[in-house]
Amino acid sequence: MKFDAIIIGAGAAGLFCAIEAGKRGRKVLVIEHNAQIGRKILISGGGRCNFTNANTKAENFISNNPHFCKSALARYTPQNFVELVKKHRIEFYEKKLGQLFCRESSRKIVEMLLSECEKAKAEIRTSCTVKNVRKDNFFEVETNQGIFTAENLVIATGGLSFPKIGATDFGYKIARQFGLKILETRPSLVPLVFSKSENFGKLAGVSVDSIVSTGGKHSFRENILFTHRGLSGPAILQISNYWKKEKPVSIDLLPERDALDLFEKNLSNKQNLDNFLGKFLPNRFAEIFTENNLSNKPLNRLSRKEIEKIAERLNNWQVSFNETEGYHKAEVTLGGIDTNELSSQTMESKRVSGLFFIGEVADVTGWLGGYNFQWAWSSGFAAGNSI
Ligand SMILES: Cc1cc2nc3c(=O)[nH]c(=O)nc-3n(C[C@H](O)[C@H](O)[C@H](O)COP(=O)(O)OP(=O)(O)OC[C@H]3O[C@@H](n4cnc5c(N)ncnc54)[C@H](O)[C@@H]3O)c2cc1C
Repeated sequence: MKFDAIIIGAGAAGLFCAIEAGKRGRKVLVIEHNAQIGRKILISGGGRCNFTNANTKAENFISNNPHFCKSALARYTPQNFVELVKKHRIEFYEKKLGQLFCRESSRKIVEMLLSECEKAKAEIRTSCTVKNVRKDNFFEVETNQGIFTAENLVIATGGLSFPKIGATDFGYKIARQFGLKILETRPSLVPLVFSKSENFGKLAGVSVDSIVSTGGKHSFRENILFTHRGLSGPAILQISNYWKKEKPVSIDLLPERDALDLFEKNLSNKQNLDNFLGKFLPNRFAEIFTENNLSNKPLNRLSRKEIEKIAERLNNWQVSFNETEGYHKAEVTLGGIDTNELSSQTMESKRVSGLFFIGEVADVTGWLGGYNFQWAWSSGFAAGNSI
């Protein structure tokens, strides 16, 4: 029951760390409380796992220390992971913007990790619940399957999102137990809920190609998707990483088109507003948008004030959101173990030797598009080469 390292959490980061350590001849145990490993990998990317992003850069991550992720990302790159995927003959494709997905199923990635763990002789115990962690000279982990000891303990229990498939606050509890600072956590890559009823409920299911920004720093050109309570879709999930309650989100519903200019060129047009807008936007959206903003009438009867109001709403719709849809719909957790507590080379705690935090439990959160898995692989690699 004595190991060189115990890794808690058989998700992306934990399994990858086990593989790297095992390859170096270290005796490793991975503890997973679910009956099955890698459940988040299985459901990721709509069942096709967007396993990395070919264009990964430090700027694609949010952290209190934006430089922290650089070293690990440089030492284990998307190209390195792609080579592993190719070695296992897993077919993949680029969906868009460098996002690499399995052609067949996420299961292929889990099978690959499992087979690499077997090769590296890493032991995995599933349905294993940790009751207690103590540290004397060694870490002692008391579980429902016995007591295990090791000189290194790696926490790879992920964030709080998707509790129904096993997410817990275990990692933060361990950090607290050992006196490490935790930065406030909140759900992210998550749909947002309108502050006031915008009367868009009837549009649930409609998508609009848009440019979405907040606070002026980052903007994303992708679809927004109307839901019963607010907005979702890739552009909204991306901006949720930067969203703050007090700041409205700006949405340009007509990217590449100046709406005012468009109206000015059509001042004598006798077409009703909703039909006119339907040429550039989904018909259903054009109808409800018109209904919400002013009564439907021909373009040539719109006043200057009305034209300016509609143009502003089309190119610069200011939307306030009250809350997110929460952890049960969030792909990731923002915040977590303060990276100032960790070595960026190894992910080891600066205060407690032998204690490591990898993957999503740390305060490093990626954009939508394969970045979060790349962080899991890269941080797992860094720790796996140090334990
Ligand atoms: C629906 C969804 C889709 C996603 N799609 C993508 C995608 O396509 N691309 C991408 O890059 N990212 C995606 N993500 C994010 C990505 O899945 C995570 O960022 C990544 O899995 C984090 O890896 P991790 O190893 O840190 O944590 P996890 O993969 O969450 O693994 C943590 C493991 O620890 C286990 N665990 C938790 N508590 C305990 C405990 N107390 N004892 C023992 N074990 C415990 C969990 O059961 C789990 O197996 C998605 C997330 C969700 C929810």
